Amino acid sequence: MSRSTTFNNLITLKQALEVAERNQFAIGSFSPRYTPMISAVLRGAQRSQSPAIVQISHKELVRYGITPKQFADELFDKMHEEKITVPIVLHLDHTKELGTIAEAIDAGFTSVMIDASEQPLQDNIRISKEVVEYAHARGVSVEAELGMIGTTDFVETDRDEELYTDPDEASIFVQQTGVDALAVSCGTAHGVYMVKQPKVDYSRLQAIRKLTPVHLVLHGGSGVPADMIMKAITLPGGGVSKVNIATDLELSLLQALEREERMSNAECMALGSEKMEKGREAVTRTVQDKIRHFLGSEGKASSFT
Ligand SMILES: [Zn+2]
Repeated sequence: MSRSTTFNNLITLKQALEVAERNQFAIGSFSPRYTPMISAVLRGAQRSQSPAIVQISHKELVRYGITPKQFADELFDKMHEEKITVPIVLHLDHTKELGTIAEAIDAGFTSVMIDASEQPLQDNIRISKEVVEYAHARGVSVEAELGMIGTTDFVETDRDEELYTDPDEASIFVQQTGVDALAVSCGTAHGVYMVKQPKVDYSRLQAIRKLTPVHLVLHGGSGVPADMIMKAITLPGGGVSKVNIATDLELSLLQALEREERMSNAECMALGSEKMEKGREAVTRTVQDKIRHFLGSEGKASSFT
């Protein structure tokens, strides 16, 4: 049996986003990237009395040399050690591999994202539906993606691979797959915005939400101005309920360590105690800042009873 069942405050994405949408705030989906930074994210949420989603993607698992079980076990250890009482979702971000999804669910993740967005609509529907059946049977929530959320790198090299989400397709997609949350492409991108600036297409968000009751997810939240995010969250009729934040956390960590290059997970784990605490404090502060200024989720742990 997974250790996840021992925490009352470890909840599914669906449970978390229902409360967020009803109360007009969003929950940050934070990528600590390095396992030693999981505690830093948890501390930020606890200090702010905010719910939080802690996530890692398939690409990050590979890049940093971590397994879903290592990530989950570290989260559970820290929830215990740091006496975390705020609601926490353990989420697998962007994953195409069904094997990784099964591994994460076995390890105790309470939410997974299947990203088959580069496939034609019918294939995206078929693959996402398969994951929904598998995950729901195990009490786990599913996020999928429709349209394509670009990376700022492609934007900078002039190969804009974004494809905005079509509201009518979104309606069909959600109805046929039964996903709990949908990542939509509406003007944000992954990475650091250098050349192109983010611009959220609010009317598209509203049109999608009008046609489907699914919870909306905004990826590429790093570097998007706070007022733009807040407007997307509080749109009449239901806005964005989950915002992914990865790049900004890693940037604040690297800046605190005065490093230009990212590390491997092993390098991060080998940091001396002074540097480690300095890095953690920087990540914690960034999480607190996002919670207060971007997400409007400060003090909202009390909305979960
Ligand atoms: Zn993403």
